[in-house]
Amino acid sequence: MRLSQYFLPVLKEVPKEAEIVSHRMMLRAGMIRQQAAGLYSWLPLGYKVLRKVQDIIEQEQNRAGAIELLMPTLQPADLWRESGRYNDYGKEMLRIEDRHERDLLYGPTNEEMVTDIFRAYVRSYKELPLNLYHIQWKFRDEVRPRFGTMRSREFLMKDAYSFDLDMEGARKAYQRMFVAYLRTYWRMGLTAIPMKADTGPIGGDLSHEFIVLADTGESAVFCHADLLDKAIPSIDTNFLGDLDPIVDDWTSLYASTEEMHDAAEYERSVPADKQISARGIEVGQIFYFGTKYSEPMKATVTGADGKDVAVHMGSYGIGLTRIVPALIEAFHDDDGIIWPVSVAPFEAAILNLKSGDALCDETCEKLYAELQAAGIDTLYDDRSDGAGAKFATADLIGVPYQVILGPRGAKSGEVEIKHRRTGERETIGIADAVSRIVGLVVPERRDTV
Ligand code: ATP
Ligand code: MG
Repeated sequence: MRLSQYFLPVLKEVPKEAEIVSHRMMLRAGMIRQQAAGLYSWLPLGYKVLRKVQDIIEQEQNRAGAIELLMPTLQPADLWRESGRYNDYGKEMLRIEDRHERDLLYGPTNEEMVTDIFRAYVRSYKELPLNLYHIQWKFRDEVRPRFGTMRSREFLMKDAYSFDLDMEGARKAYQRMFVAYLRTYWRMGLTAIPMKADTGPIGGDLSHEFIVLADTGESAVFCHADLLDKAIPSIDTNFLGDLDPIVDDWTSLYASTEEMHDAAEYERSVPADKQISARGIEVGQIFYFGTKYSEPMKATVTGADGKDVAVHMGSYGIGLTRIVPALIEAFHDDDGIIWPVSVAPFEAAILNLKSGDALCDETCEKLYAELQAAGIDTLYDDRSDGAGAKFATADLIGVPYQVILGPRGAKSGEVEIKHRRTGERETIGIADAVSRIVGLVVPERRDTV
């Protein structure tokens, strides 16, 4: 992308309404625009990050055997009357009446609708296990939307729903999502720790929240420090095999949200020098809730013995539009965002320090063409602005690697490569710049391990 032809409305002023760093930086970097309380437009730069987050989630869901579909944002109230949640959900649910006076709602979650799809088509235990997911906008009329897209009213969520014949099958489905989640957040560069959690309005009796530690997080959490640098299951993980060892390993160390916290157990099982009592951001939650929806909604299958049984279900959410600010909370400095390569809006930027100079332009154009041909997602700052503005923009929007070229380098045949994360700078021959960038970027994509 040529920056002169892009839409990147960067702000010079620090927006006053934003209380936390990620919200400030998303506004300053031209990633989002607030349209009303808790409603945001995703501007091109922000949307590019969101799409990368989405791609990773889809790849890992598919790898774990979940199947993608798409359900509508609006749902008929009658489905929710069947489960009994229409009245229970309260004011967080946005209720709508259409021209025929039929009650609709803007879905805050999709247990009812996916259960309706399941019961319409699935008859036999032979069609199980099944896990269906979608990535769709949700609406919850939060009392206090805040922190930008961290807690908004409309937000993008991945929600998966598993269907199994019995509890043992459902436990395995839960484990597949547990492992998929570990991989998903790791691929984005995030350290998200699975913690015992309360089930809330989704219901059920087994749940984990995936928590990214951050001072600005809204949850109080407690965990064993060793969870912070535990190895993540590899791409070769066999999701059809036994996942007990992985899940047992992760759940054997203490990790709990405040709601489920057992202070005595924490003190007993975690040595004092390993105790972490901190704040965190909930970037996902998984639930097993048995037949809570399948029973009232009559989602049954015929078992091997010819008898009909209500299926055992679980649901598995990830907040995409919350992950983006969570990433910024985790990765920034005073100058701006520091994206991990796997979710960066651009993997590399070319900074032409003297646009209009024939040799600079020619050299940068060539680098731009070669980087793109090498598959590097590249931003070319070809604007006529001064060098200072170009450095500031590249740092603010957090491009991991900057290829910097001025008139002197163009003449001597050298560029500078700046590593955004470490601040390290290396001078390298122009002919070697592309392979150097490829060598830096490709392993950090985390898409093959
Ligand atoms: P919270 O406790 O933060 O209100 P929740 O537990 O009600 O969230 P879930 O039903 O577990 O949310 O939804 C799955 C995921 O969707 C959450 O883990 C979170 O990442 C995301 N999410 C939930 N509510 C919001 C919101 N208002 N804005 C942005 N993301 C959200
Ligand atoms: Mg939750």
